[in-house]
Amino acid sequence: MGNNDSASESTEKGRGSLDIEIQSSAAVFETLGNETRIEILEVLGDPPGEKMSFAELYEAVAMDDSGNFNYHLNKLLGTFVRKEDGQYLLSHAGEQVFGSVQAGTYQARATVEPTAAGGTCQLCEGELIFEYTQELVRVYCDECGEGRSFPFPPGCLPDYDIAELPAVSARWYRTHVKRVLDRFCPLCAGEMTGQLIHGVNEDSDPPEPSLARFTCTTCGKQVHLTGATIATFHPVFEGFLFEHGFDTRGGPHSEVWAALDSTTEATHTRDPLSVEVTFTHDGETVTGFVGADASLTNVERQY
Ligand SMILES: [Zn+2]
Ligand SMILES: [Zn+2]
Repeated sequence: MGNNDSASESTEKGRGSLDIEIQSSAAVFETLGNETRIEILEVLGDPPGEKMSFAELYEAVAMDDSGNFNYHLNKLLGTFVRKEDGQYLLSHAGEQVFGSVQAGTYQARATVEPTAAGGTCQLCEGELIFEYTQELVRVYCDECGEGRSFPFPPGCLPDYDIAELPAVSARWYRTHVKRVLDRFCPLCAGEMTGQLIHGVNEDSDPPEPSLARFTCTTCGKQVHLTGATIATFHPVFEGFLFEHGFDTRGGPHSEVWAALDSTTEATHTRDPLSVEVTFTHDGETVTGFVGADASLTNVERQY
């Protein structure tokens, strides 16, 4: 056998009733280094969740040698493929790999030249620019350079017109932020902890917004969000915005901030650090406090 199975080490971890068996990553990825196995995953992934019998799968993969086919299928079984009622389907890991391949995570390389994002900077009212390179969307101000960047799957780009991309990527960013605020790592789904790292810096021009850092306890991935962003996706703030005619699903949320009568952020306490965020529109106010752990508390809406 060409496979170096001796490289795979299993360790048993008991945490209460939870059992986790961890295989070496090299051994798991080595399993995928074969075209027949990738074809099996692709057939089972069309659509994901559908079960197939051995005969159906064998026919769809169009291989001459059933013994050889069986050998490759068995290599995937238990990791990327599972068996239910005598039929085969993708496991969760199999669906993840299939999803990443569909998203173009591993193969696609795409670039979108800088183009107007259709909004203005909330700091200096400069024009917002959208660009896409190295799997990252960047939306930044043409004048002051402030902005944000976040990963966007290249395989999804052909689904949209270039003109739609700023709005599409804003929706994607919202999904990304919501996931972080629900404390799941966007990379590995590990638990994220938050920390408010600085309040509003009034001395800089324009004032530098507050910043919170979220860190994955499993993989160490870090995501930075401002206090105003954390507040924007709280249900009470979102409800306030929606009832005033602003839908955070429609475009960059910085556009929503710019359209409100006022959006303010202020350092509330220094030790422990907390930041007060207030949105005002049509004589109505919603306020919340981002605490040292980056969670939003004491949210209050005044009519
Ligand atoms: Zn600007
Ligand atoms: Zn992680």
